[in-house]
Amino acid sequence: MKLLKFGGTSLANAKKFLCVADIIEKKAKSDQIAVVLSAPAKITNYLVTIIENDINNDEMLEKIDLAENIFIKLIKDIKKIEPCFLYKKTKEVIEKEFNKLKKIVNGIVLIKQCPESIQPIIISRGEILSVVIMKNILKSKSYDVTILNPVKNLLSTGSYLDSTVDIHESKNRIKKIKINQKNIILMAGFIAGNKKEELVVLGRNGSDYSAAVLACCLNANSCEIWTDVDGVFTSDPRIVSNACLLESISYQEAMELSYFGAKVLHPRTIEPIAHFQIPCIIKNTNNINSKGTLICQKNSSEENFLKGVTYLENIAMFTMSGSCLKDSGRIISRIFTVLSRERIKVILITQSSSENKINFCTLEKSIDVILLILKKEFLLEMKEGLLNHLNIVKNLSILSVIGSNIIYKNNIASKIFSSLGCSKINIIAIAQGSSEHTISIVIKKENILQAIKNVHNTLFIKKKIINAFLIGIGGVGKALLKQILKQKKFLDQKNIKIKFRIIANSQKLLFLKNPSNLNNWEDDFKISKEKFNLKILNKLLQRNYHENSVILDCTSDELLSKQYINFISHGFHVITSNKKANTDSLKYYNEIKNTALQKNKKFLYETNVGAGLPVISTLQNLLNTGDSLIRFKGVLSGSLSFIFGKLEEGISLSEATKEAKKLGFTEPNPSDDLSGIDVARKILILAREIGYKIELKDIEIESILPEKFKKYQNTEEFFLKLKELDLSFSNRINKARNLGNVLRFVGTIEKEGKCSVKIEEINKKNPLYKVKNGENALTFYTKYYQPIPLVLRGYGAGNDVTASGVFSDLLRIIL
Ligand code: ADP
Ligand code: ASP
Ligand code: MG
Repeated sequence: MKLLKFGGTSLANAKKFLCVADIIEKKAKSDQIAVVLSAPAKITNYLVTIIENDINNDEMLEKIDLAENIFIKLIKDIKKIEPCFLYKKTKEVIEKEFNKLKKIVNGIVLIKQCPESIQPIIISRGEILSVVIMKNILKSKSYDVTILNPVKNLLSTGSYLDSTVDIHESKNRIKKIKINQKNIILMAGFIAGNKKEELVVLGRNGSDYSAAVLACCLNANSCEIWTDVDGVFTSDPRIVSNACLLESISYQEAMELSYFGAKVLHPRTIEPIAHFQIPCIIKNTNNINSKGTLICQKNSSEENFLKGVTYLENIAMFTMSGSCLKDSGRIISRIFTVLSRERIKVILITQSSSENKINFCTLEKSIDVILLILKKEFLLEMKEGLLNHLNIVKNLSILSVIGSNIIYKNNIASKIFSSLGCSKINIIAIAQGSSEHTISIVIKKENILQAIKNVHNTLFIKKKIINAFLIGIGGVGKALLKQILKQKKFLDQKNIKIKFRIIANSQKLLFLKNPSNLNNWEDDFKISKEKFNLKILNKLLQRNYHENSVILDCTSDELLSKQYINFISHGFHVITSNKKANTDSLKYYNEIKNTALQKNKKFLYETNVGAGLPVISTLQNLLNTGDSLIRFKGVLSGSLSFIFGKLEEGISLSEATKEAKKLGFTEPNPSDDLSGIDVARKILILAREIGYKIELKDIEIESILPEKFKKYQNTEEFFLKLKELDLSFSNRINKARNLGNVLRFVGTIEKEGKCSVKIEEINKKNPLYKVKNGENALTFYTKYYQPIPLVLRGYGAGNDVTASGVFSDLLRIIL
């Protein structure tokens, strides 16, 4: 004997009913078959609304008519596909059942309430009709069918809406029924009967449980649960798109998964089949050939001990506190005795003895009953002030990670916490150890879907995800996107995913539909109508719970740089090629660094000095490992490196500057380069990195240009005036040349933090001697690197090298 159960998702329309009939037919060829059916998808929800809303005759009857029409349409459609289908006969039963419901509704309206004993009759009509329809489909195919009445045969105890089956007694009853071996057995799921032979139901989603019970009663050798997914996944595949199918799991693991929210199985399904050792297979009606998931008595291998991430919603947490909890053992036993007497399910408990507090979580729908029970039980303690008011927090969810003996495994809890931490999701309570196979965490309901995705990714996919918010799509921003797109395959191989949540310039914003796909961002950006400003950005950031979220500032905007503390406080890492923040006041600089430290976020700015050259990280490495700086000297400006190289070749200052501008090496107004201020800013950043507490004004700057050049904003006028400096410069160059030296524009940091930027005469032995043509060079004379310094040399400007520096900062977030 084989038991097959088909859920509502497998019976959603005429085509699916007939597909189920085909599966039954196929299976019946090799074995006797018993089939348990749910109501067609959504029907139960719909019937529940009849009794949940206010009692209103017209509204209730209207709903019943609508439900009836759904069934009539369903059988009409079946008839269209399967002309032999016993349509008329089925229609008569449907009408009879709905007339019965209408009579019940009239009664409800008369007594102005719907007694609990009546509710199961209404909400289980879907199951009754599924069986009638399937019986007539099978009959039209000439199969003999035996219908088992669950009210008569499955004896249950408990409440009308959430009963438990007495398997021993039910088995005895079913044993007595004579069933022809050739017949296909059909039974409505979800339904059972109490001692008084009243119809009761087994809790929402209870058809799985009906199937397990019937499998035990019939001594079936397997129980197949047919649904709309390929089996049990490591998380709900409707929410986590990369959830993995589990080939097989143990009864214990299946029990934990379903108890903590894997809706694919009703939580009570496993216990009976585990007891009778019946293997259970979860199969997909939409993909008959998939192997499914086998649930049986087996232990997981060591390396595959993790099984899933699940969640429960609509959770409330009660906190009881007060001095009487000092004697916690006695009080706790009273709390849970009264709750269990009223059949209240307590999902999770945490206790803090030192604070005289106990927390427990239940479903929100039980709040009123619990309040009533506890207030009654602890009336005296509350009056005497020994117990404080009950505190209730609503709108919570419980995220659970399930794995065999999970609590004994290293690292899992810490990985969960860090994954939630990375997405700034606060943990409200934790329970580990109530079962050895589950770690449960209470968080706000609004965070649950993101939390599930993140924790699943961390534990199962082992993919490292970065969520980037790019602001600035000038040369550097664009080059960065190009480089990331080009590296996609490489990053995939390394299990790294960079998702761009937004791409923005100073005016508008693009939300990427597929954040990992950068193929069409430029076209999409062009047509995007979303406005961008700091207010909009901040609002957006507040609502963001993606893990490893990073602001990428590829602008030179001062206002944006003033927001970094704000970004970091909202849980973002900040990566910037913009020098404004690091050259702002020392106070602001320190504030950013401290906030980043406090919030455990990264603030990276490798490209602030020397573009793509690994300057900041090298310096940090030296200092972190105990080296100390004696002196720093560097050529830090690409344009000045070019210009001074040309001077050496005998070209005049004005001509060399013109050429540099033509080649795009200078700022739009070359006086910005020649003033030396940009080099001074880089020196300031390096000096602060070393630990010197200085401001920009503390740096001695020898500008190439006399003071009066500030007036010449017009480029033509500027070049005209620059000619006036040519002679004095060529004299200076010649003087140096006669001594075998060259001139370089050099930034210096001395041991005590004294900083300067000025033109220096450099001799052949100096590493800066050969630095020209736009190259940068940085020489670190340190305790370890002397007398020959550590030298970093290479192009220190340009979109591609700067973008690659930002890119490597981005990867430092996860590596
Ligand atoms: P049925 O109508 O067949 O009983 P349900 O909707 O009750 O179907 O259960 C199947 C659904 O369970 C799936 O569509 C899926 O969204 C959900 N689900 C939740 N957790 C899991 C999981 N871990 N593995 C598979 N499915 C899951
Ligand atoms: N139809 C019932 C429900 O939706 C039982 C089931 O589908 O398992 O809860
Ligand atoms: Mg179900």
